[in-house]
Amino acid sequence: MTETADIVVVGGGCIGASIALHLAEKGVKKVILLEQKQLANGASGKGIGIIRTHYTHPVLAKLAQQSLQLFHHFGERFGGYDAGFHACGYFVLVGEADVETLHQVVAMHQQMGIRVDLAEAQQLQQVCGPLLDLSDVAAIAYEPDSGYGSPPQTTAALAQRASDLGAEIRTETPVLGINLDAEGRIEGVVTPQGAIHTRTVVDCVGPWARQFATQLGLEFPVTPIVEHVVVVERPTEVATVHPVVSDLINLCYIRSDAEQPYTRIGNSDPKYHAQFALSDAEQFQGQLFPDICDKLHQKLIRRCPSLTHAPITETYSGIWGVTPDYQPIIDRLDDVPGLYCAVGFSGHGYKLSPVVGDLVSRLILEPMNESVELLHLFRYRRFQENDWIKAPLSYAQARGLR
Ligand SMILES: Cc1cc2nc3c(=O)[nH]c(=O)nc-3n(C[C@H](O)[C@H](O)[C@H](O)COP(=O)(O)OP(=O)(O)OC[C@H]3O[C@@H](n4cnc5c(N)ncnc54)[C@H](O)[C@@H]3O)c2cc1C
Repeated sequence: MTETADIVVVGGGCIGASIALHLAEKGVKKVILLEQKQLANGASGKGIGIIRTHYTHPVLAKLAQQSLQLFHHFGERFGGYDAGFHACGYFVLVGEADVETLHQVVAMHQQMGIRVDLAEAQQLQQVCGPLLDLSDVAAIAYEPDSGYGSPPQTTAALAQRASDLGAEIRTETPVLGINLDAEGRIEGVVTPQGAIHTRTVVDCVGPWARQFATQLGLEFPVTPIVEHVVVVERPTEVATVHPVVSDLINLCYIRSDAEQPYTRIGNSDPKYHAQFALSDAEQFQGQLFPDICDKLHQKLIRRCPSLTHAPITETYSGIWGVTPDYQPIIDRLDDVPGLYCAVGFSGHGYKLSPVVGDLVSRLILEPMNESVELLHLFRYRRFQENDWIKAPLSYAQARGLR
């Protein structure tokens, strides 16, 4: 006899796990999450985990603000589990060209009730000790409540909570196909263990989005892009834990680990993204593209000369699913009734995952709910309509990443 489910969630990253949890929490009896390999097999396994509200688009800032609150109360809110969140603070550094934009973003955020302020170089030096060279920095913003978490730990926590609430989490279970009925509506999914009958599927396959939707005649403009991280060990004289630093001059982000004297640096320069694109997420095998780790290391030394001789302890890469405007696609897909998606988070989906789970579960269960109206911004059709998401403010070089 064919197995049935009320809702099948495909993909066991932080987004799929959060959606499964929120569906189970809202009383959906049989939610099954299917993950082709292990939980956090994709972007969520390697993300650097920065959680900040600094967005130039008010809707993204609002979602990030709501998510940040959830990270602060993660244990109470999600069954006592730990997301690995550290509120170590977050600084944004800009050069002369971006001073006005930074001031406007901070003012917008303050009006929204986000705890953020402009900061003096001295304030940052006090927190970071002799770590940073700020001679080229023209303005700084500071979010004291932001920081970073652990994406794999968060994914496991969300999935475990979903399971506690009755959802089934099945790893090593790829969705090989989707069955439609004669009217073209979702009828089920196909796995190596057999078919599962369902009328509702949520596509959360991240960087696999383009290939996954092809079978349904849908074109998801999601490009898998390899993202690199360099880790150095700080010498004892600069070994204090430091806050997250988003450097919009060198276009990189830097954070320390809470338990070890390590500093991690990643790239936020969009000009590299085309070079690191793959035609299929399956091509990703943890490869490192030539030169980029050296470039990241140089950026780190430029911003933190005190780390010039700090040994590199690790270089690694993960994979992003990037859309043309660097924003996710979150929608109910009317071309295939019963299909929903939350994919293409383009390098900033981890911080949004708690709130996205709530919004997508509402989109499915209470489609007229006012709180999901803002999801219209992230609709699938915006690319065909040539109506990409565009922030009212923008930094000189950072594009949609901010
Ligand atoms: C190096 C790096 C740094 C990052 N830094 C940050 C940051 O500082 N802050 C931030 O907010 N975000 C950051 N991100 C981005 C963030 O990690 C992602 O946006 C987020 O993890 C996306 O989660 P997801 O669940 O959408 O996708 P994924 O985590 O990629 O999950 C998709 C899952 O779907 C599964 N899947 C695919 N096809 C199938 C199928 N047919 N059947 C079953 N399962 C399938 C995959 O195996 C995978 O586990 C970073 C990412 C990387 C790689």
